Amino acid sequence: MSELAYPYEAPASQALFDRASVVTPGGVNSPVRAFRAVGGTPRFMVSGTGPYLTDADGREYVDLVCSWGPMILGHAHPEVVAAVQEAVARGTSFGTPAEGEVALAEAMTERVAPLEQVRLVSSGTEATMSAIRLARGFTQRTKVIKFAGCYHGHVDSLLAAAGSGVATFALPDTPGVTGAQASDTIVLPYNDLDAVHAAFAAHPGEIACVITEASPGNMGVVPPLPGFNQGLKDACAANGALFVSDEVMTGFRTSRAGWYGVEGVVPDLMTFGKVMGGGFPAAAFGGRADVMAHLAPAGPVYQAGTLSGNPVATAAGLAQLRLLDDAAYAKVDAVSEQIRGLVTEALSKEGVAHTLQTASNMFSVFFTDGPVRNYEDAKAQESFRYTAFFHSLLANGVYLPPSSFESWFVSTAHDDRAVQRIADALPAAARAAAEATA
Ligand code: PLP
Repeated sequence: MSELAYPYEAPASQALFDRASVVTPGGVNSPVRAFRAVGGTPRFMVSGTGPYLTDADGREYVDLVCSWGPMILGHAHPEVVAAVQEAVARGTSFGTPAEGEVALAEAMTERVAPLEQVRLVSSGTEATMSAIRLARGFTQRTKVIKFAGCYHGHVDSLLAAAGSGVATFALPDTPGVTGAQASDTIVLPYNDLDAVHAAFAAHPGEIACVITEASPGNMGVVPPLPGFNQGLKDACAANGALFVSDEVMTGFRTSRAGWYGVEGVVPDLMTFGKVMGGGFPAAAFGGRADVMAHLAPAGPVYQAGTLSGNPVATAAGLAQLRLLDDAAYAKVDAVSEQIRGLVTEALSKEGVAHTLQTASNMFSVFFTDGPVRNYEDAKAQESFRYTAFFHSLLANGVYLPPSSFESWFVSTAHDDRAVQRIADALPAAARAAAEATA
């Protein structure tokens, strides 16, 4: 769609985007931010408070992206800000161990029982990359099973049939990933245990691990069918492979103990990011102590990071986790349910075929009759309706993910005023979705 289709476009954002496009490929530092799936000008934000973001043109939006998950307490939560200010004043990076890293690791292991030990890193990509290396080092095997539509960051070997931005851009393969890396990755349809059993049978003694999103959010929200994750765990145990549950998105969001807290399936390794960093670059991988013992300097599998366990990031993450008690999760779950109800009501009133899928407080709308059980189902939706829906909401001050292959996120800060703003904007958006043409 051309920019002229959006007469309400924000001139200050457009000017920044023009400047950015000169010095940065595509004008953004992470592809989905460029709005290519929905068209129009990406909004450049200047501030965030509670459930709101304000852009460079001074327009305020109810934020349903929450920085793609981390901002579960809303933007600029006073206690998180205070913890960060206090940490910054003591120095921003030491390159030595520091108590904050220990405290964050303790807070994580206390919440998530299978997490016997953790190693802190700076991004979810680093966490999954390192977990895969460790799984290969531990098992002395090379192959990895992943699922189509699951995104685990931009790790070379995991960029096969990934969701998220890769789904948005429909890249069949990413140039720059070698054939050798891709050939060690076995991509299977999500929610299909028969395919997993067949892959283990076809590659005896070769599969190091199965990695899966604990409950996928990167092809839109597609929760595991009952027994799927346990089936993965059992198949791994029966074949000497490790079960790696990627909780970068779900960790400390879908419950106090993430998706593990919802389902109770015990992984060998887990990965985290987003919420545990309180809006700063902090992530982690961890799990069985006997597996983690293979990591340097305790063991031979090398892994390191100049800014790993950064004192400001750990202070933010720790402050956020401390505030995430049962009442906080009850609040986020309730707001999520409220918004889901409003979305369904508006779309149903206009007769728009849709499916709302949820994983605790994570949810997304697919413009198709459901259920959506895997990537193929997700791709079959009428994404052009999402484009119209998105732009109508944006024009009326509601900021959705700029792609139909993403989860929506809410926070404890989404109060009645914010929900009312969404309720007021939805009827026109539902009408736009109904009237949209491919
Ligand atoms: N794993 C999952 C499930 C994710 O959702 C993401 C990011 O969205 C990642 C890994 C990569 O994390 P990061 O963007 O911090 O590298």
